[in-house]
Amino acid sequence: MPTAAELADWDLRHFWHAFTAMDEYEPLVIERAQGVWLFDTEGNRYLDGVSSLWCNLHGHRHPRIDAAIVEQLGRVAHSTSLGLANIPAVELARRLAELAPGDLEHVFYSSDGASAVETALKMAFQYWLQCPSPCPAKTKYIAYDHAYHGDTIGGTSLGGIERFQALFAPLLFDVIRLPAPDASRLPAEIDPQRGADHYLAELEEVLEKRHTEVAALVIEPLVQGAAGMILQPAGYLRGVRELTKKYNVLLIADEVVTGFGRTGRMFACDHEQVVPDLMCLGKGLSGGYLPLAATVATGEVFNAFLGDGSQSKTFQHGHTYGGNPLAAAAALASLDVLEQERVLEQMEPKIVQLAEILAGLQDHPHVAETRQIGLIGAVQLAADGQTGNPYPAELRAGAAVCREAIRRGVWLRPLGDVIVIVPPLSISSDELALLGDVLAASLDAATLDEPLGTAVVQSDA
Ligand SMILES: *Cc1c(COP(=O)(O)O)cnc(C)c1O
Repeated sequence: MPTAAELADWDLRHFWHAFTAMDEYEPLVIERAQGVWLFDTEGNRYLDGVSSLWCNLHGHRHPRIDAAIVEQLGRVAHSTSLGLANIPAVELARRLAELAPGDLEHVFYSSDGASAVETALKMAFQYWLQCPSPCPAKTKYIAYDHAYHGDTIGGTSLGGIERFQALFAPLLFDVIRLPAPDASRLPAEIDPQRGADHYLAELEEVLEKRHTEVAALVIEPLVQGAAGMILQPAGYLRGVRELTKKYNVLLIADEVVTGFGRTGRMFACDHEQVVPDLMCLGKGLSGGYLPLAATVATGEVFNAFLGDGSQSKTFQHGHTYGGNPLAAAAALASLDVLEQERVLEQMEPKIVQLAEILAGLQDHPHVAETRQIGLIGAVQLAADGQTGNPYPAELRAGAAVCREAIRRGVWLRPLGDVIVIVPPLSISSDELALLGDVLAASLDAATLDEPLGTAVVQSDA
């Protein structure tokens, strides 16, 4: 076994971390985990406040999921999904078809959320070439400001987060961009009760003019995650479904974050009884255990890829590890846990508790706004909580708060100056209370004391 110091050294030298400034990175190496707790090689423990990037549902080392993987390992670790099936992938496809809304019942596997979105984009494109009334001019996508759909070129093209997008602009394809349907940033003259109507009118204007060239609209249903947990007005998603139907445009719901109970229902689409044409799943699909993603299509989409046994209509796309048996076995066990431990019911008091934690932070002098859906919480920091006047970006206020939290034993990772709280759904009430206490203390430590406190005074001067 290498020592902790050796691991830290090798980590710095050779492990190039995702979305991480490597010149500032301080090694923190996880050795093991249990429930909501991560343990590092130095013997410290951290509450996993972001579910290992929004994917862990039932805690780490859940005995049922561990056992399912081990059992599958005794049979086969991997076989291809190109012209071949395996037992857990077949069972999981059937299970997802049952769970997914409406007639979404054809499951195409991949390994990451970005690939699930990429798959959906290409399915939508090919669909319009070979559906019963082909529309080869439909080659464009509608996506939103601040959207995030993963980091492949397709996903980045759809994405509307400036700092991810600007850099790669010359590589990206054009999308038709709509303003984010942000429930808390409606124009002043719009009655908040009519927020959905306002944003739907903007959408309809675009669809009216350009529907003949639009293959699909891609949306993160109810909440734009990586944007900082931006919430949509009630009724918006439902309206999007109606308008996309009316204008003959496919609806791709990217449920990579929202799927599998995170919002308090199985899928975000379930809140508004919406059946998209394509649904992208990832993150929590395997309970946060193994890389697994899926694009689920309706019969209507699927049928456009059939015909006369010829190859010409075949979906020309695939991923080597799609439908991996170990990952599928983990996903099946995770779905068993969701059902048998009545996770959705058990979440309800925790959703209320999270609301109370957020309410307690609402009046903090450096909190502009808090937002919540299900077990997703967000705290928007500001130099002036009253006016919402932001911190200068170079202060990295969000990172400063999270550093304080990590020091206090809660692992958090911000989205700019938004602190996100996305604990495993299995978090206990005591653990959630601890998370809330640490968050409050970290907020005070980072924003009221030096250096951010001083900087605020300076920037006011
Ligand atoms: C995380 C995320 C993705 C990308 O998933 P990866 O597994 O990181 O590729 C796609 N869509 C949404 C909404 C996400 O939050």
